[in-house]
Amino acid sequence: MKIKTSDFVTSAVAPSQYPEGLLPEIALVGRSNVGKSSTINTMLGRKKLARISATPGKTRTINFFMINQEFYLVDLPGYGYAKVSKTEKASWGKTMETYLANRQNLQEVILLVDIRHEPTNDDKMMYDWLKHFGYGSIVIATKLDKISKSQLQKHLKIIRQKLQMEKEDHILPISSLKKQGVEEVWNRIETLFIE
Ligand code: GDP
Repeated sequence: MKIKTSDFVTSAVAPSQYPEGLLPEIALVGRSNVGKSSTINTMLGRKKLARISATPGKTRTINFFMINQEFYLVDLPGYGYAKVSKTEKASWGKTMETYLANRQNLQEVILLVDIRHEPTNDDKMMYDWLKHFGYGSIVIATKLDKISKSQLQKHLKIIRQKLQMEKEDHILPISSLKKQGVEEVWNRIETLFIE
């Protein structure tokens, strides 16, 4: 897929703040610091469109980016940041559940995990939640440049196993640093629009 235009449109917490219209949405979610902002910026070929968080876990809003006037890439608030209060965690949960359970435009939610580590219990819970709502057919494994090529298959297998991904689910390694794997992610997203 060729990215011709990408623009930040709005941040939302409540459904009344979501963009109007019928454009499909592809959302990304992951633990704070997993590399979600970097991934979005790399996917869009932009340096700073999605903020690379100085304070992990601070973004609590759903951020909508319009791509090619055709669909939205949606940045969901990260989870798993230790210093977040109970009240903030509850509000994150409510924001997420409202969006995942009700959003008609939502086509797919992609989970991001760090390629170096076995997914955390939070990652597994998130993935189960996505599956419950009918999403999660794509997982992105970030920071590919941090492991050696010979270790790649082993790491992908560990992630698949921990998340209990199904055979038909896709796991795609990327490196924002080295700009690797981005094309494959777009190609996979493109198939969602065709199906
Ligand atoms: P977010 O909190 O999930 O949005 O994560 P960020 O995009 O802010 O990235 C968290 C940290 O991981 C930052 O220090 C990034 O520079 C680093 N990072 C993100 N992607 C990559 C990558 O592909 N390779 C490497 N080596 N570091 C990365």
